[in-house]
Amino acid sequence: MQSKDYEIIIGLEVHAQLATSSKMFCRCAVDVDAKPNTKVCPICLGLPGVLPQVNDQAIKLGIRAALALGCSVNLESRWARKHYFSPDLPKGYQITQYEYPLAEHGELELPGMNKKVRIRRLHLEEDAGKLIHSTRKTLVDFNRCGVPLAEIVSEPDIRSVEEADAYLKELRLVLRALGVSEAEMERGHFRCEPNISVRPKGEAELGARSEIKNLNSFKAVREGIERAAKDQIEWLEAGKEIVQTTYLWDEKLRELRPMRAKETAADYRYFPEPDLPPLIITEAEIAEIKASLPELPAAKRKRLIGADFSEQDAEVLAAEPRWEEYFAGLLDAGASIKEASTWLLNETRGILAERKETLAEFKVVPDEMAALIGFLREGKLTRPAAKELLTAMADKGKGAAELMEELDLEAVSDEGLLEETARKVIEENPDACERYHKGKTNVIGFLLGRCMAKLRGKADPKAVREMLMRLLSEGK
Ligand code: ADP
Ligand code: MG
Ligand code: ZN
Repeated sequence: MQSKDYEIIIGLEVHAQLATSSKMFCRCAVDVDAKPNTKVCPICLGLPGVLPQVNDQAIKLGIRAALALGCSVNLESRWARKHYFSPDLPKGYQITQYEYPLAEHGELELPGMNKKVRIRRLHLEEDAGKLIHSTRKTLVDFNRCGVPLAEIVSEPDIRSVEEADAYLKELRLVLRALGVSEAEMERGHFRCEPNISVRPKGEAELGARSEIKNLNSFKAVREGIERAAKDQIEWLEAGKEIVQTTYLWDEKLRELRPMRAKETAADYRYFPEPDLPPLIITEAEIAEIKASLPELPAAKRKRLIGADFSEQDAEVLAAEPRWEEYFAGLLDAGASIKEASTWLLNETRGILAERKETLAEFKVVPDEMAALIGFLREGKLTRPAAKELLTAMADKGKGAAELMEELDLEAVSDEGLLEETARKVIEENPDACERYHKGKTNVIGFLLGRCMAKLRGKADPKAVREMLMRLLSEGK
């Protein structure tokens, strides 16, 4: 058999850091970049004699995510202790939810793929600390201990690397649109553990899975899944039995390193958290949160495409609330949809891509971009001059009018100056003019180029061309 005779089955577990200002069970600030071990207290360090207290904001954010993912929220859920040994886990256990999660049975639609992935559960838990390895020693930073996480577990409904990628990107968008998580993958706010198995096509039973721990980039997820599936197919072809295993992804060698034969629930010695009561949520709370949900990316995409945006533009606006806000700001300041689309979605996106910057870092505010668009519309700027002005505004953070003057970019609309320039160019190029009169009318392009150079590109080429034609026909 060949790899095309197998089906790949994928289920994804995602840990998203909730955007709270304090930790899950204590009042310490969530500030993972702070000086190591400065955002800690007896509770998150797991000292004896302390009691955890639940962070309401984290619960609210969890419910928000659950509702947006179409999950049913359990009116009663429970906390559990999950035990394992690790130097970055000072308590020796993690407080999580096990048999009774916050929410269950949701789904996420993959954009453009006509496919829904079922979500098995969403539960809340706390993060562990961080180990910092160097060649000679390992240091531990407990600032991340107790940071609130939502774990979102899919059903094994994903069938390809592309679908896995689309699922993660859409989930990330949803969480960001909700304000539930910053979901920056590089910053560890959004970590994925893919579970992968393969089976011969037509087979109904699922094969044993490989689980890959804590991946921090879309690329690692793609490559890890590809590798796991390829390995499994090879083993099956060689007649080997696949044993459920947990792996680490070695980014450099692009290899899976077995970490352990899959732990079972018994290995974690789960038991109910004795220090916390069950988490009770009321119907009224759920209704209130439901009413506060923003428009989600899927709905926004549909709305924009319905309003004649290209699929690509709709995607940009749906992907980042900031882009849509900026766009709305341009419309408020008088730009048309077409103008806003050109200057924000094409020109600005190009500038930012070139500089590897985000819109948040962009120094031009919507009102100033609208002013630039206005100058262009009034003929005070030519298109190339407008582009130059936008780049300069992005560099210096100054206003459109001020910089247009400072850089002397205003278009020459003075008929007198246009005529003077055109006359001069005609005088300087008698040969070209003669050829023009002999019928080689395309010489006009050359003369136009000369004029534009003299005017430093700041005139409307159409007006200059008309002027040249007039003078040439007069001079015949
Ligand atoms: P655990 O904590 O043991 O990893 P979970 O239930 O949290 O178990 O997660 C299991 C994940 O693995 C889910 O996303 C599920 O869809 C996926 N999964 C389960 N069985 C398979 C399988 N045979 N092949 C691929 N994915 C699977
Ligand atoms: Mg798992
Ligand atoms: Zn603390």
